[in-house]
Amino acid sequence: MKQLLRSQWTQTRRWLQGKPVRLQPLLCATLDRDDVALARAWRAQPGQWQSRAPVDEFTRQFCHWLGVRRGWAFMGGRAALYAIVQALELKAGDEVVLPAFTCQCVLNACTYQGVRVRWADIENQSFGMDADALSKVLGPATKAIMIQHSFGLINRDFERLLQLARERGLWVIEDCAHATGAEWRGRKLGTFGDIALFSSERSKIINTIHGGIVVAQHDTLARRMDAIHARAAVPSDAEIARLLNTVEYGWYVHKHRWRPFTAAWAEWRFGAQVLAQMQPEEFEGRFVPRYAQRMVAPVAALGLNQLAKMAHYQEKRRAGAAHWDAWCDKQGLRRPLVLPDSQPAYLRYPVLVEPQQRADLRWVADRLGMTAGVWFSSVTHPVARDSVGCPVGEDAVRRVLNLPTIFVEAVRASP
Ligand SMILES: *Cc1c(COP(=O)(O)O)cnc(C)c1O
Repeated sequence: MKQLLRSQWTQTRRWLQGKPVRLQPLLCATLDRDDVALARAWRAQPGQWQSRAPVDEFTRQFCHWLGVRRGWAFMGGRAALYAIVQALELKAGDEVVLPAFTCQCVLNACTYQGVRVRWADIENQSFGMDADALSKVLGPATKAIMIQHSFGLINRDFERLLQLARERGLWVIEDCAHATGAEWRGRKLGTFGDIALFSSERSKIINTIHGGIVVAQHDTLARRMDAIHARAAVPSDAEIARLLNTVEYGWYVHKHRWRPFTAAWAEWRFGAQVLAQMQPEEFEGRFVPRYAQRMVAPVAALGLNQLAKMAHYQEKRRAGAAHWDAWCDKQGLRRPLVLPDSQPAYLRYPVLVEPQQRADLRWVADRLGMTAGVWFSSVTHPVARDSVGCPVGEDAVRRVLNLPTIFVEAVRASP
């Protein structure tokens, strides 16, 4: 109750000071009333939670939409990557190259299985792996590289990265956690490498709170994925219930039009009955069961509902990006790079600002009315790390700011 009152006071003060009270959200931006209704309906039917049909249908529709034959659904993008590491039969001593601008859960999915990670620096136009940096870290133990399409942009060096990997006979993993729906040369991302992961976490393009999908391009990998998926565990009923609560909670906190008030109410109503984005063990690189869990029916049902709304929200994201393009031009800031013949997914709109503007982001809320994103706050976000010898990635960490691309309420034409 005290917290509720304190929060209402903060909102009232913002209002009295003439500051925006409703901020455009970065999380749960694609949740609507229909997702909440669906979550409630599933919460009332625990007997159906182990049904296979919705998971098969979600996987089938996702693959059809992406233009691939086979896919496998898990309880997270991190779980999808954990499965990929097994499917590629990467073992202790093998090396995988990651871009020095990613998240801790990506690192965990590799190191949990004893794989050694090498860092390649990024470029700061599309925040993707720099091909020159990659060629410097490749060694005899390198077995795979991970190409991460940050913010839904297409990597500046995509073609050269693919070519380098091909020349060296390395597996290419595409991390499409941000890039569901992005296209390059008329094809969707996730179909260029050997194997790819997608995420439907609450900060991503489609949202099932926790969720992820693997797609693979070869029969050998497909056979191995079948086996990995078949032996994957499922989350407990308690966890599934919390996930369904989190849908409702997320909608009231981030999306509801009265969210300055409903957020505090949802906090009070659901409190500890919701799922966190990461568990404490993950910050320390210790294993948690979610990395080895496959998707369950209620999550897939939410995924189907989100897929059906994807085109609608992608249009909004493009309009949002156009708004920020104009803003960048006016502010003298550099727009993110858009490769010719490509269509980014614009999960978030990244801009590089001065380190002091990045250090205190209150101006983003006060002047722009936006929730400020901080992907990534370290090369292994959100866990702080000593230098990994990648100056461009480490500089981006100090200067990058990410802006929402879905505007729930109309924004002023020129902020
Ligand atoms: C979110 C994210 C993941 C993992 O996805 P989850 O569904 O959250 O496990 C992987 N890679 C990147 C770059 C991400 O941002």
